[in-house]
Amino acid sequence: MASPFLATAALDMAALADLDRRHLVHPHQRSDRTDRAVIVRGQGCAVWDADGAEYLDATGGANWLCQVGHGRAELAEAAAEQLRQLPYFTSFDVFSNDKSIRLATRLAGLAPAGLGQVFFTCGGSEGVDTAIKAARLYHHRRGESERTWILARRFGYHGATYGSGTATGFDGMQHAVGPNLPHVHKLTPPFPYHSEWFEGRGCTDFLIDELAAAIEQIGAHNIAAMIGEPVMAGGGVVPPPDDYWPRVRALLRHNGILLIADEVVTAFGRTGAWFDSPGRGMDPDMIVTAKGLTSGYAPLGAVLFNEDIAAAVTDDGFFHGYTYFGHPTACAIALANLDLIENEGLLDRSRQIGAWLREGLTAAESLPVVGDIRMAGATIGVELVADRATREPIMAGPAATEIRKAHGVIVRDYGNTVVIAPPLVMDEQQAARTVEAMTSVLTRLHPDGT
Ligand code: PLP
Repeated sequence: MASPFLATAALDMAALADLDRRHLVHPHQRSDRTDRAVIVRGQGCAVWDADGAEYLDATGGANWLCQVGHGRAELAEAAAEQLRQLPYFTSFDVFSNDKSIRLATRLAGLAPAGLGQVFFTCGGSEGVDTAIKAARLYHHRRGESERTWILARRFGYHGATYGSGTATGFDGMQHAVGPNLPHVHKLTPPFPYHSEWFEGRGCTDFLIDELAAAIEQIGAHNIAAMIGEPVMAGGGVVPPPDDYWPRVRALLRHNGILLIADEVVTAFGRTGAWFDSPGRGMDPDMIVTAKGLTSGYAPLGAVLFNEDIAAAVTDDGFFHGYTYFGHPTACAIALANLDLIENEGLLDRSRQIGAWLREGLTAAESLPVVGDIRMAGATIGVELVADRATREPIMAGPAATEIRKAHGVIVRDYGNTVVIAPPLVMDEQQAARTVEAMTSVLTRLHPDGT
């Protein structure tokens, strides 16, 4: 038999799936999922598997990105041109490159006022680690070395490295791989639907008291920063109450604690704006981004620092950085991607897509298995429950699989929430097809999840 590596065109789905099972260790691999969907091509919101079957991608590469849609020639050309000119050069020490300088300048212009200093990474996890290190170093350089604690939230997702993974609020991420990063404290998330978590009190009132108690217990002088997503994504698409971030911000500022906005999912149009944090009154000291920065066409992240933090960490040298910092080809792709988002009005389009989807899902609101439907721009979460009174969860995996297999629509499951987060080029017909597939499967879903 010819080597599969020389004859890739001849490999069908079954053969690829077989090789995949033998040789690939998947992220978040679950032993109960042995089937494979091998995607080989994409255009707009459509993707095709190795057998030629077409799917509607309603989750932007199944990872909340791909804002500009698949198969954009503009990005392929930007990459090709840069690869011919200068594929890579380091940014360590005195070296730099024109594309990373242009991209940093562009990001500084788009970012909330004051967050104009950029540190590049290969993705979100590295960005979160960078922000945590920068927060600790900032305090150290200002003579407060004991400020090492990081406040985070249960059900917040921040990545998979030891730093970002410890800040993540899913216990499974830390299980049996410890010791994890010390000095991380988890708070209750702002999740109004789960009023049972707030002991009969208002969600924000409860959370502010809890935060104040944590600061008291750990000691403000020991705390470096709090990290949070403006809207929790992997936790189930959870926009907080309007007063949550302004009140958290005020309390942190009063105690000299920095605020890190994890906008890895929310930035670059996902929720209808370049950045989500300003609209929520978050006013962070640092913003971590990745995903939509290149629409997934290259691995790239960017951490935005305010001037004080940038000055403090570089003051006596910032001995931190990645080989692929400011990768010229990734930065060239990002620049072309930001042009497309701007020129094609994808921030407005994001809000329009969200409105189509949300309106289409109105009928699903009354289904017995639908507990709550939440949205932020083009991102929708449908929380599944076995019982609307007790809010007992139904795991969303089987429903998401059925939506893909029976209707050819790719959505993702996060715990008991089905998530839609499409490319920001989705049209009205594709939104309607997504809603139809969801509603049809959820209508037939039994409270036991089958
Ligand atoms: N932060 C958030 C909010 C995320 O959703 C993710 C990934 O999904 C990350 C950080 C980690 O990013 P990456 O997977 O690029 O390391």
